Amino acid sequence: MSNNKRAGVLLVVSGPSGAGKGTVCTALRKIREDLKLSISVTTRQPRNGEVDGVHYFFKTVEEFAAMRDAGEFLEWAEVYGNFYGTPISFVKKTLEEGSDMLLEIDIQGALNVKKLIPEAVLVFIVPPSIEILHKRLAARGTETPEALALRCASATAELDYMEHYDYLVINDELDRATEDVAMILASEARRVSRNTHAYKMLLEGKEL
Ligand code: 5GP
Repeated sequence: MSNNKRAGVLLVVSGPSGAGKGTVCTALRKIREDLKLSISVTTRQPRNGEVDGVHYFFKTVEEFAAMRDAGEFLEWAEVYGNFYGTPISFVKKTLEEGSDMLLEIDIQGALNVKKLIPEAVLVFIVPPSIEILHKRLAARGTETPEALALRCASATAELDYMEHYDYLVINDELDRATEDVAMILASEARRVSRNTHAYKMLLEGKEL
C-alpha cells in the first residue's frame, strides 16, 4: 500500500434494461480510466461484435455450473433465461490493491453483492420515463420479439427495486448522468472510512 492509499470503491451499477446503464458505464470508464471493470461470465450467446474476454467470458451451461460449484463467483444470477456471474478473484484482488472497481450487473446480483459486501455502493440508473425505456429497448433491434416483450415487462417491474439502492441517477442526458456517477464515485472515495490510513498518517505527523 502506498502512503496515501485508500480502500477501493466497489461501484455496482444496475437498473432496468433500456435505462442505458451500459452506455453510462462506457462513458464513465472514458473519464475514469483507472476504474477497473469486472468482466462477467455468461452462458448467453455472443451478440454481433461481442468479443470473448472483453465483453464477457462466454461459457457453456456446464462450464458455468462447474465454476459456480467451485465457489468462483462473488454472485451469480439467471437473467432472461441465461446465467451470469461475477468472478470473485478479480474483484478481490482489485479492491485489495486499493483500486476502484465497476460491476455492471442485474438487480438480483447487486442486492446479493450488498449483502456480502455492505460497503459496496449501489447506483440505480433509470430512464426519464417508462415510454422512453420501451422505445430504447425496441431501438436496439438485437432481440427477438419474444425476448423484447420479456425485457419490457421485467424492466418496468424492476423499477420497484430502486429503494434498495444507495443512489438514483436519471439517464435523461448521457453526459450529465455520467457526471453524476463520477461524482458519486469521487465522493465515496473521500469517505473517512475508506481513508483511515491517511488519517493515521496525519495523526502521526506524516505528510500525505
Ligand atoms: P445482457 O445480456 O444484455 O448483456 O445482460 C443482461 C443483464 O445481465 C444486464 O442487466 C446485465 O447488467 C446483467 N449482468 C451482466 N453480467 C452480470 C453478472 O455477472 N451478474 C449478474 N447478476 N448480472 C449480470
